[in-house]
Amino acid sequence: MGRQLTAPHEDPSREPPSHSYGEQSPFRTGLLCRCPRCGEGKLFAGFLTVAPSCTVCGLDLGKQDSGDGPAVFVIFILGFVVVSLAIWVEFTYEPPLWLHMTIWIPVILGGALGMLRPMKGVLIALQYRNKASDSGTVDYD
Ligand SMILES: [Zn+2]
Repeated sequence: MGRQLTAPHEDPSREPPSHSYGEQSPFRTGLLCRCPRCGEGKLFAGFLTVAPSCTVCGLDLGKQDSGDGPAVFVIFILGFVVVSLAIWVEFTYEPPLWLHMTIWIPVILGGALGMLRPMKGVLIALQYRNKASDSGTVDYD
C-alpha cells in the first residue's frame, strides 16, 4: 500500500478524451456531488466551493461553476414545501404565530443548507452535459 511506482498515472495537465468515460447521469453524479464526466472524482473542495479540477479525470471543474442557479431552485422548492406545510399546520392545529416561527425558521435554514450542495451538483452536471453536446465535440457512436 502507498507505493505507486509502476501504477498508470494520468497527467493532470492533459485531459483524456471524454468518450473514454461512460455516460453519467447528471442526477446521480450531482446528488452524490461527483465529477459530471467520470462520476468518480469529488466535485466540491469545500462546502459549496467547486474543486478546481477533477482528481480522477482532470476535467476543469472551475469553468463549470453554476453561480446563483442552485439558490434559486432551492428557494422555489423550499418555499413551496414550507408554505404548503405551514398552511396545513395552521388549519389543523391553529398554533400561535411564535410557534410557527419556531417550527419553520429551522426547517428553512436546515433545508436550504441541506439542499444547496446536491442541487448545485445536479445543475453543474446538467450544465456540463449541455455544453458538451452543444459544442459538437462529443461523438456518440
Ligand atoms: Zn472526473
